[in-house]
Amino acid sequence: MAEAAPSAPTLIERPVSIARLHGQACFFCGAVHKAMRAAGSVQLRGSGRVWPIVTCGCREAL
Ligand SMILES: [Zn+2]
Repeated sequence: MAEAAPSAPTLIERPVSIARLHGQACFFCGAVHKAMRAAGSVQLRGSGRVWPIVTCGCREAL
């Protein structure tokens, strides 16, 4: 219910599948056939690009 996304992206160190970065799959478990909601944003170390991510509800926002 709460949808307060953090404003600062979370820096991540490890590679993440592109589907998760594109918000097509849950960032945490990879589920794709569930209702998604915003879970904040991440930034890959070494990249200036910030990606909004989603969660299926298995975990709360970052
Ligand atoms: Zn999930």
